[in-house]
Amino acid sequence: MSEAILQVSGLTKNFGGIKAIDKIDLDIHPGEIVALIGPNGAGKTTFFNCLTGIYTPTAGDIYLRNPETGKKTRLNGMKPNNITKIGMARTFQNIRLFPSMSVLENVMIGRHCRTKALILGAIFRGPATRREEEEIVDTSRGLLKKVGLHRQANEEARNLSYGAQRRLEIGRALATEPFLLLLDEPAAGMNPQETEALVTLIKAICKEGHSILLIEHDMKLVMSLSDRIFVMDYGKKIAQGTPEEVRSNPAVIKAYLGED
Ligand code: ATP
Repeated sequence: MSEAILQVSGLTKNFGGIKAIDKIDLDIHPGEIVALIGPNGAGKTTFFNCLTGIYTPTAGDIYLRNPETGKKTRLNGMKPNNITKIGMARTFQNIRLFPSMSVLENVMIGRHCRTKALILGAIFRGPATRREEEEIVDTSRGLLKKVGLHRQANEEARNLSYGAQRRLEIGRALATEPFLLLLDEPAAGMNPQETEALVTLIKAICKEGHSILLIEHDMKLVMSLSDRIFVMDYGKKIAQGTPEEVRSNPAVIKAYLGED
């Protein structure tokens, strides 16, 4: 198997006396879809917040390795926007769009973040040129098509259905060209048809070369989508394996059903 693109070791986050995450080790390899599951309060969102620079870990290391260049970066202490620029993007459990901006503009913001990073990477030369603006619009429209929202491009984001807003968040995250995409409860609030479309979308995104780590409570989705499942409870890893392995793991059954 090729070298991991995400390497997490000994990750710990305390809030006062609460160990929200306790010595977690997790590697993600190129092309994988990994699900992070666990009962409410297990520490899943705190884990995402540590990976994406929202929280500073109490202990442990997080490394991101660009699969194309091989460049490895330690993420501890980095700001969220800088982490996005080096190839990891996310969506949120509570949708965070720009509600009064258009659907297209929401994706363009993600794209601006990427192109500005490239411009700064070469030589700083102020605002985007007309050609760059055209590239941003074209790419953003292409991404809207991918997430099935091209017909609503000019609608205000707040007018979209809940499921469509979740897809828009994915489109905006993709605009930053992540090689690793973190999805926090992407199916929450979706009806069965929307969830089915989401599964197809996530599989397509993965085929295009993005690796995916997702938090999800919809077990049907998790079981049908994941290569590997990582299970947490009270901040600790309690199991890890293929969907079949995790489904029959006694510790997982106990955590979910409270059985002895
Ligand atoms: P859910 O599935 O309900 O979203 P989760 O697995 O994402 O839960 P977290 O939200 O990460 O769990 O919470 C893990 C623990 O850390 C909980 O006990 C929670 O109360 C605590 N916690 C999370 N964020 C904070 C914070 N900012 N301050 C204090 N405690 C926190």
